[in-house]
Amino acid sequence: MKIGVFKFSSCDGCQLAFFDIAPEIINSEYIEISYFLEATSFNIYDRFDVAFVEGSISTREEEERIKDIRDRSKIVVAIGACAVSGGIQSARNFGNFEEIYSFTYRENYFKDINPLSKPISDFVSVDYTVRGCPVNAEEIIEIITSLLLNKTPHINESPVCIECKRKSIPCLLVMGSPCLGPITVDGCGALCPSLNRGCYGCFGPIKGANFESLRDLFKERGFNFEELIKTGFNAYNPYFRGVIWR
Ligand code: SF4
Ligand code: SF4
Ligand code: SF4
Repeated sequence: MKIGVFKFSSCDGCQLAFFDIAPEIINSEYIEISYFLEATSFNIYDRFDVAFVEGSISTREEEERIKDIRDRSKIVVAIGACAVSGGIQSARNFGNFEEIYSFTYRENYFKDINPLSKPISDFVSVDYTVRGCPVNAEEIIEIITSLLLNKTPHINESPVCIECKRKSIPCLLVMGSPCLGPITVDGCGALCPSLNRGCYGCFGPIKGANFESLRDLFKERGFNFEELIKTGFNAYNPYFRGVIWR
């Protein structure tokens, strides 16, 4: 299986998941990493069985490049909140782009930057998504091994709350702190609640979650539901766009 790992607008953190699973990949006779700029100088940009894509689409050059990668790849996997939702850089999507840009860069540094930071699914079809900021390396392994075995990968869709219950973590929301766990897909093992911190939704929304109920509860407790989502990694997730930012 020929794999390519690609970077767009992002921090490189999700690509590091491949370093976590490097022994499994490098020792497998069934896997060939043909393109991975972060990891090697020996890259062949040709055809790929699976393209793993990190990062959001933020420039016109990136729009063209993601389409070219799609054309060359049988399967495209979006990895991480940047690729799946637009990432933390999509915070600019909710403000005045010119103001934000001139405040951040004092000259015309990026010549072809787009006003909006968008997920790759806004430009090409995506076969699988691995969520998180950064992703859980085990979910990358699940995708790779499932594709090698010609079976559908199991992608978790249960909320962070389920993991809290499994681990007997006291509920922060019940105790009076804001937590997006009920509407956020688990993949981190309830990392933040286990450290006495509310979930801020880095793995992104669960489709069909009861947003209204959590919004009402936040309001009752004096927390700002929209603000917590808007300042997060998944604010521009296509599902939030349809449900919260209508
Ligand atoms: S999702 Fe998070 S860790 Fe991954 S590239 Fe984006 S900012 Fe970095
Ligand atoms: S702490 Fe958060 S994630 Fe855990 S059960 Fe309570 S609401 Fe759910
Ligand atoms: S608890 Fe929420 S914010 Fe924390 S790592 Fe997990 S999904 Fe991300």
